[in-house]
Amino acid sequence: MRAFNFSAGPAMMPEEVMRKAQAEFLDWQNTGMSVMEVSHRSKEFMALAHKTERDLRDIMHIPDNYKVLFVHGGASLQFASIPMNLSNENDTVDYVNTGVWSTKAIKEASRYVNVNVVSTSETSIPDYAEMNFSPDAKYIHICQNETITGVEFQNLPKTDKIIVSDFSSTILSRPIRVEDYGVIYAGAQKNIGPAGLAIVIVREDLIGHARPDTPTLMNWQTYNDNESMFNTPSTYAWYLASLVFEWIKEKGGVEKIAEINKRKASKLYDLIDASDFYYNEIEPSVRSWMNVTFKLKNTDLDAAFLEESKAAGLLSLKGHKVYGGMRASIYNAMPEEGIDALVAFMKAFEQKYA
Ligand SMILES: *Cc1c(COP(=O)(O)O)cnc(C)c1O
Repeated sequence: MRAFNFSAGPAMMPEEVMRKAQAEFLDWQNTGMSVMEVSHRSKEFMALAHKTERDLRDIMHIPDNYKVLFVHGGASLQFASIPMNLSNENDTVDYVNTGVWSTKAIKEASRYVNVNVVSTSETSIPDYAEMNFSPDAKYIHICQNETITGVEFQNLPKTDKIIVSDFSSTILSRPIRVEDYGVIYAGAQKNIGPAGLAIVIVREDLIGHARPDTPTLMNWQTYNDNESMFNTPSTYAWYLASLVFEWIKEKGGVEKIAEINKRKASKLYDLIDASDFYYNEIEPSVRSWMNVTFKLKNTDLDAAFLEESKAAGLLSLKGHKVYGGMRASIYNAMPEEGIDALVAFMKAFEQKYA
């Protein structure tokens, strides 16, 4: 029996997708081969690749002047690729620091460019008016959703600067206006598919300006000029991403999924806020829909909470070590029944130990 897996990533995949992949695992589209065994340049795989991009464009309403790149190295390689593609070493760039992933992006970018950190916070996001933006920044970088604490941007700074955003843990969770961004990037293993693939959505005029010493496979132009097949891409991850995009379409698109996601998150936050036993430290206006963190007032009960939740088929609820407590990562593939089961468990646990 499949458990409800609240892991932050790699994370749960939709069951329908897993069953489809299983059914065609040995013989994909009557080729007599698994999709992982066919050439990435075969007409079958190229058709899949094109369809994957079309479906993503559809469900995210990506404008024609944006390119979609299927890249290597996870979101983390983009921490370096971004400054290399968008700036020179004497330029200044602005970074909003909202936690662990922003900090990693800042650390890496600082090796290549002058990074101005406009604000630092962990459980909230300051008013944009109070941030220390630099007049000549080449771009502004944000982490749309900080996966570890569960802090999510609900709106963007009003600016004519290029906004670059790490969407790893929130892409496809709700409708967004792609045109508000210069670059959107995400590792696959939260809301797209299995690990091994990352997606970069970039306004076309931002391609073609990489520094001369940029490694070929970090230069967005390489991916753009070669349909993301300069070298062998992560074909199996690409295929599963394609099935996930089809699944989102069948579910009624990102718009419909967003309604479910909002309800899923509210069920947990409502329970936590109403309780004297659990609490959440995040400023309510920026609470994440994807990563719901909570702590037990009595931390002596943490071990029992984890042990008993696991026995109840609710897995991976332990929070990240730098933040502590618990975290329920509830990406698109987490069914609402998983939330209901967690809510019921948390209520029963509170009654037992309060
Ligand atoms: C998971 C995550 C990453 C790291 O992704 P990799 O693909 O492992 O490099 C980066 N940023 C955020 C916000 C994440 O949640």
